[in-house]
Amino acid sequence: MAIEASGICQTVFFYNPNIHPLEEYEMRKNENKRFCDKLGIPFVDVDYDTDVWFERVKGLEDEPERGERCTVCFDMRFERTALYAHEHRIPLISSTLGISRWKNMAQINTSGERAAGRYRGVEYWTMNWRKQGGSQRMIELSKQEHFYQQEYCGCVYSLRDTNRHRLACGRPRIKRLSQFYGEGEQLIARSDE
Ligand code: SF4
Repeated sequence: MAIEASGICQTVFFYNPNIHPLEEYEMRKNENKRFCDKLGIPFVDVDYDTDVWFERVKGLEDEPERGERCTVCFDMRFERTALYAHEHRIPLISSTLGISRWKNMAQINTSGERAAGRYRGVEYWTMNWRKQGGSQRMIELSKQEHFYQQEYCGCVYSLRDTNRHRLACGRPRIKRLSQFYGEGEQLIARSDE
């Protein structure tokens, strides 16, 4: 674990089998890893077990974002995170999910607390990362690092629904893997996770 200015030793745990297709997953993962390497933060690259993810969300394909499919998706990822924390004696877990204005904080926190609650000695931090300048800081850092700018949440269903929404608004379909913060005027697109 690396010690940040906050005094907190941190490890980044990347477990996102919800992200599709594979090139999108690799892009997001590599962006995370690049920043961790720069800061000397340990990066744990976990399985891309998409089959398990699709099995868990079966029947929920048409749920809207923030609906039941997202709860199942959060649960799966937090369960694995909490297990890792338990096995490695890490007392506190949290997530970047809450930085997105597209997400429901209460839904995220409930899943995080449910997963942490399985293990004595593991707690979920219900920090609201959007407050106290968090959202602004996220944009600043993203521009500074020229991070990849994702335009949909991650799964095939969110890609489908975001494209439907864009077409209904007269906007073109998402062109994946093409936008980066700090390059042009593209900050109208969504940015999360
Ligand atoms: S929209 Fe996002 S949070 Fe919801 S199921 Fe898809 S990837 Fe998971």
